[in-house]
Amino acid sequence: MKRIAIDMDDVIADATQKFCDIYQAEFGTKISKHDFIGKEFFDVVPHAHQSYVHEYHFRKGFFQNLHIIPHSQEVIYKLSKKYEIFVVSAAMEFPYSLNEKYDWMKENFSFISWHNIVFCGDKSIIKADYMIDDRLKNLKNFEGKAIVFTAPHNLRDEYEPFTRANNWKEVEKLLL
Ligand SMILES: [Mg+2]
Repeated sequence: MKRIAIDMDDVIADATQKFCDIYQAEFGTKISKHDFIGKEFFDVVPHAHQSYVHEYHFRKGFFQNLHIIPHSQEVIYKLSKKYEIFVVSAAMEFPYSLNEKYDWMKENFSFISWHNIVFCGDKSIIKADYMIDDRLKNLKNFEGKAIVFTAPHNLRDEYEPFTRANNWKEVEKLLL
């Protein structure tokens, strides 16, 4: 079976929406994913809030209860019949995220065994046939076929050498 390495945040788990929800709860200002088009969170919030919101991902609980990216469960389940699936997250950046991400996987992707979950630092260590990720930096050095999964921040007008999937239905068309 060919292997697919699948990222978590903003590919199967909606971390950007959690960011927006926390920001609105704490500052009373609604920001939406639309505001993130071509931008990172520090471009979206006022300068005075940037160092404060930088801490969000380091907080206990940030990676709990993230919404599931639409159709990821059903499509990955179908893919798992034809491919070996690995969920790969650069979780080491956020030490509190490890348990939270593992629990989230158990709850929402129970058909993926712990053997197939990889929490790492630098993803250049990953070897697979396909990698689906929203971060171009993770795809750049990948030796297999890279698929960039659309997230607001990666919608820029710059040239990119990767195949793009805008949603999981498009991944299904590409790989099944
Ligand atoms: Mg990601």
